[in-house]
Amino acid sequence: MVSEKRLLELLKSLIRIQSVNPDLTPGGNGEEEIARFIGSYMESVGLLVRYQEVAPGRLNAIGVLKGTGGGRSLMLNGHIDTVDVEGMTIDPLDPVLKGDRLYGRGSFDMKGGVAAMIEAVNAVVDSGTPIRGDVVIACVCDEEYASMGTEAVVREYVTDAAIVTEPTANRVCVAHKGFAWATVEVTGKAAHGSLPSEGVDAIMGAGKFLSQLDLYARETLAARKHPLLGSPSVHASLIEGGSNLSTYPSRCVVKLERRTVPGEGRETVEREIEMVLQAVKEKDPQFQASADVFFTRPPFEVSTDEPVVRAVSEAVSETLGRKVEYVGSHPWLDSAILAGAGVPTVILGPDGYGAHGAVEYVHFPSVVDTARVLFSAISKIAG
Ligand SMILES: [Zn+2]
Repeated sequence: MVSEKRLLELLKSLIRIQSVNPDLTPGGNGEEEIARFIGSYMESVGLLVRYQEVAPGRLNAIGVLKGTGGGRSLMLNGHIDTVDVEGMTIDPLDPVLKGDRLYGRGSFDMKGGVAAMIEAVNAVVDSGTPIRGDVVIACVCDEEYASMGTEAVVREYVTDAAIVTEPTANRVCVAHKGFAWATVEVTGKAAHGSLPSEGVDAIMGAGKFLSQLDLYARETLAARKHPLLGSPSVHASLIEGGSNLSTYPSRCVVKLERRTVPGEGRETVEREIEMVLQAVKEKDPQFQASADVFFTRPPFEVSTDEPVVRAVSEAVSETLGRKVEYVGSHPWLDSAILAGAGVPTVILGPDGYGAHGAVEYVHFPSVVDTARVLFSAISKIAG
């Protein structure tokens, strides 16, 4: 049985240990201390524990409950890094419980989910229920920046199924968006401001590109609809160009972000930016530009018929007595890396408020519910 008291104590301990991602926030203290704490905790539960140091001070803590053999293996995956605590209007490291809300940085994103998955396995060990498949608890670093943690995990641990415990209000999340970052460089020709016949204004060119891009977003992208995620999108994030007031700018660089839905990949993004550039060129033969899609993360989708999705859905309806709701998540999550490694993955975690915000809390009863759902799902999948 899941112990509410033990779960609350564990979650409070996790909130008290700062674990700010240092790549996101220079000076952030990283995940070593929290990983070591979780490792010792999992050892005391009886799991085989090891650490993966993916960079100095950046650790994954992995705990394995060995199965008796012949069953499906399952990974529970959650990140232990948080965003910055600067600007918070609550004490980020003091886990105060007010009513049902437990406050603190990371309570919601996502130490609540991490505590729930550890407590679920603790409850399995307590119950003495024999488990045939291995259950792997992966507490990973760096999800908030470059996902080095889960990338290191899938190099060594490929299980038959995975559950990522990011917050979903205990709804079953089966899809999320991907993204692509691109640079578009518009080339003009520098000339004295008084000589329009000699200069080509790269910033004006970028303006034409941006209005064509806007048209593409409103017409092409808006018409594309994913049932859970809605439409893909694009926005201009950064722009730079020009040297002084009296000179035609020879260069203007626009950096943009394209959020993708399942079915769209890097090639889609490259091809469509090229189409936009081509459309500008047709109207303005002087227009010259090149595009580079320099970083992508794929979108994620899993079928509701996948055994792990079915098991978690059954666990939700049996444990919480609720109709299962399938949802999509807008932000990108580590689940895409697990899926990319061939591991059928689903996302389920607690409810709360304020991920990356000035006030953050997790709804504690929902953390208990997550732990109970996971406890039930473990025996359905690995039992
Ligand atoms: Zn998160």
